[in-house]
Amino acid sequence: MFTVKKHLTFAAAHRLDLPYKSKCTNLHGHEWDLTVYLRASELDSNGMVMDFSEIKHRISGILDHSYLNDVLPFNPTAENIARWVSDQLTDNRVVCYMVELMESRNNTVIYTRD
Ligand SMILES: [Zn+2]
Repeated sequence: MFTVKKHLTFAAAHRLDLPYKSKCTNLHGHEWDLTVYLRASELDSNGMVMDFSEIKHRISGILDHSYLNDVLPFNPTAENIARWVSDQLTDNRVVCYMVELMESRNNTVIYTRD
């Protein structure tokens, strides 16, 4: 089994749709800090789990300098974004089994999948 760990950051704004009073419902931005863990028992034809630049392309290529509410089809909480990241990087051969998404230094979401 091979494991790849990739760290990247992206800047993006969002506002949350919440049924209670919260400053997070106001438009604001974060410098998101993301670490993903991918595993595969079989390598691709290039001998990789997934090219590091492909990981960046699939995530930062969509999210960096974006308004998350416009590019993601759900309430863009850190939890929902972490699950979306895992889905973006998982296919028949590769599983993105853990995502650590840090919204700010004190607030991190960890999503895991089998
Ligand atoms: Zn926020």
